[in-house]
Amino acid sequence: MEKSSGGKNTPQPGRRSNFGKTHLRLSLKALRHQPKRVALVLGSPGRLLGQLPPAVQAVSLDLTADKGAGGVNARGTVTVRAPAVCRRCLNPLTLLETGEMSAWFRPASNVGPEADGVWPVDPGTQAIDLAPAIREEVWLLYPEFAECGGDCQGLCPGCGVKLADATCSCPLPEPDPRWAALRGRSTGSDHQPGVAQD
Ligand SMILES: [Zn+2]
Ligand SMILES: [Zn+2]
Repeated sequence: MEKSSGGKNTPQPGRRSNFGKTHLRLSLKALRHQPKRVALVLGSPGRLLGQLPPAVQAVSLDLTADKGAGGVNARGTVTVRAPAVCRRCLNPLTLLETGEMSAWFRPASNVGPEADGVWPVDPGTQAIDLAPAIREEVWLLYPEFAECGGDCQGLCPGCGVKLADATCSCPLPEPDPRWAALRGRSTGSDHQPGVAQD
């Protein structure tokens, strides 16, 4: 994975700037005068943000960057959209995860190695790049698994029918055999060696 080094984000000569990239780079000079709002839907987010969870289809941003004490603070919401399947019933669904992010961009000399949510800015840098902070937020938001709902009944383990749509005649799941000894004990009918009888 790409590591954020806080290096200079010098535009490469001869490379065409594109819409999204320029909108994720904020001029420090302009921020001195007024806050900047970044409200965007990134339809090919990996192209602008770097490596993301592969299923991510779109990332929506509504961020405001503001010059504050000792740096620039960018905060607001990040929403991730991705197709997924419910891990219980295997229905396709669309994940929509929204989170609040707050990232600080501070001179590299003021940023310790373990500062969470703080991105170092090298001296002489003209613009801050929001992309690494947004990428990190997307990874944090992306869930380990998807479920269509907390009440999803899933599939019958016997025949695979989706229990929300149909009933089946599969026998109830076998009880844990370790309880059999205790059942025998309660009815007195099961003389198992090693099980004390009343
Ligand atoms: Zn489900
Ligand atoms: Zn069944």
